[in-house]
Amino acid sequence: MNIILLGPPGAGKGTQSERLVAEHGLVQLSTGDMLRKAIADGTELGLKAKAIMDAGELVADDIILGMIRERLQSPECAKGVILDGFPRTIAQAEGLDAMLAEMGLKIDHVIEIRVDEDALIKRIETRAAETGGARSDDNPEVLAKRLKVYHDNTAPILPYYREYGNMSFVDGMQSIETVASAIGEILGGQRN
Ligand code: AMP
Repeated sequence: MNIILLGPPGAGKGTQSERLVAEHGLVQLSTGDMLRKAIADGTELGLKAKAIMDAGELVADDIILGMIRERLQSPECAKGVILDGFPRTIAQAEGLDAMLAEMGLKIDHVIEIRVDEDALIKRIETRAAETGGARSDDNPEVLAKRLKVYHDNTAPILPYYREYGNMSFVDGMQSIETVASAIGEILGGQRN
């Protein structure tokens, strides 16, 4: 089972992905986590990505698609994946489709986590405080930029997936537990 979780930064995609990993044995593919690892490892990609991420902008589509391709081909992903923070542009969505077709795979569910954006700002501030500023892009200024980028580049992929016919949404303003059970219902007890 392959799932895409969509929603603005701070919507809870990472938290819900972790639960799906634990409950469904899926592998979480978070392009943000992959980029943060590249930064921590001091790779050339990490060096390039850091400035872009700190500015709240998007890393180039070909780099992101290359990272996803590499992971999707690995045996650990055979049971299924949760795509978290990807795709973020129409070009990425189209690139993903082409890649999946080539690999004989498909997306089973696209789930949008909807949130109130004023509340999001508060949520990101809390996350920044809790993690002691561990993420250099978790601050109100960069969040405003990330939200703008979400509206300009990522929200346009929602109609793209609506046409797919396997798109659902959950109210992300509820508790983590409630959102998790709403997602569970969408997945309809499918284990992997
Ligand atoms: P995230 O952890 O998903 O919020 O991602 C953090 C940052 O990494 C984003 O603000 C972007 O700069 C970059 N990033 C993560 N995923 C992507 C993606 N699919 N396309 C472009 N940039 C990305």
